[in-house]
Amino acid sequence: MPVGPPIDDPRRVEVRAWLDAHPSPTPRQLAEAGYVAPHWPEPWGLGADPELQLIIDDELARAGVERPDNAIGIGWAGPTILAGGTPEQHQRWLPGILDGSDEWCQLFSEPEAGSDLASLRTRAERDGDEYVVNGQKIWSTWANRSRWGILLARTDRTAPKHRGISYFVLDMATPGIEVREIIEMTGGNHFNETFLTDVRIPVDCRIGAENDGWRLAKVTLGNERVSLSEGGVLWGMGPTSAACLAELRRLGAGSDPRHRQRYARLHIESTIIDLLGDKITDALLRGDDPGPVASIRKALADVHGQRLMGMVKDLQGAGGMLGEQSEHAEETDPWNWGFLFSRALTIGGGTNEVQRNIIGERVLGLPREP
Ligand SMILES: Cc1cc2nc3c(=O)[nH]c(=O)nc-3n(C[C@H](O)[C@H](O)[C@H](O)COP(=O)(O)OP(=O)(O)OC[C@H]3O[C@@H](n4cnc5c(N)ncnc54)[C@H](O)[C@@H]3O)c2cc1C
Repeated sequence: MPVGPPIDDPRRVEVRAWLDAHPSPTPRQLAEAGYVAPHWPEPWGLGADPELQLIIDDELARAGVERPDNAIGIGWAGPTILAGGTPEQHQRWLPGILDGSDEWCQLFSEPEAGSDLASLRTRAERDGDEYVVNGQKIWSTWANRSRWGILLARTDRTAPKHRGISYFVLDMATPGIEVREIIEMTGGNHFNETFLTDVRIPVDCRIGAENDGWRLAKVTLGNERVSLSEGGVLWGMGPTSAACLAELRRLGAGSDPRHRQRYARLHIESTIIDLLGDKITDALLRGDDPGPVASIRKALADVHGQRLMGMVKDLQGAGGMLGEQSEHAEETDPWNWGFLFSRALTIGGGTNEVQRNIIGERVLGLPREP
């Protein structure tokens, strides 16, 4: 059964006709057709409403066509450049984002600025037509392989902390950038430390006005929260929720009353998380902002992912202690990889406590935190 509008909906027929004409589309063809980010305005997307997005997602999936894999570029950097960039900046960066030819990273977090991101200390000082940047970033996913980065830096040290920040696009090949890989307990490497020493960024790589970076950072973070809340049990990586439940069945979770109780609880959680996902889709279809529902779903789904992976590990018994830790473990030992990676879920994209603060304030009407 198709998701959303019926099988003979004219918009569906149009997408299918395009797929018939392009049975194995290249990333560039997909980008030029507007099918990579259909909700973006033309010419980058199709200005699609959520219903048309559902149709396109569904038809691409049925045809076995995958979009370019460029999560940070398409998910977070692109929408912010669209919101705050000039037409020249759109032209310069959006094509390489959409067709996946340029990988992007996000240089926001610092050793002393994570949840309280606005206290970041990396400085950008104006020097003619350039800014000179000095500071340190951390947890920069894929910085070691990215062509471009989105960077927050302080341009006014005297202003209140949210008002002295600017938003830049950084060419990762610029002299003065040192990226040091961090090996995670999975044995793999997503993260890096990024050191910036007298890095020169041209003024035309600033997005939006000087000191207006916090407004644009909120655009990036809002997109990050919704996409991480929708991604599945491990943010769309590793085994899916359904695969986990199937693995639990295979390991005999139904045969012992204690396991059965635990499994039933996980199944109920999984169903509730799916229903919250439907609620988000429904809000989008009506043209509403899903608001704090994305935080509720993320808060539940991240802990659920940890519980699921924990139960698989427990049922594996002593053999589960021999799990592989290597840079390939995500493919070769997804259960051990998922168990170890799941610890990151409640930290990245806004910690579980921060999501609870949002729910407390925006859903329960509790007083704002000081
Ligand atoms: C998988 C993953 C990928 C990431 N990728 C990137 C990336 O690409 N680029 C990037 O810039 N960063 C990235 N990060 C970093 C991430 O944004 C930060 O880890 C996150 O914002 C938390 O910051 P912190 O680690 O400094 O913890 P802190 O903010 O220091 O928090 C420490 C503890 O205090 C709690 N806490 C903090 N403030 C409050 C509060 N107000 N109320 C209640 N409790 C609070 C937290 O919940 C946490 O338990 C990534 C992180 C992960 C896990």
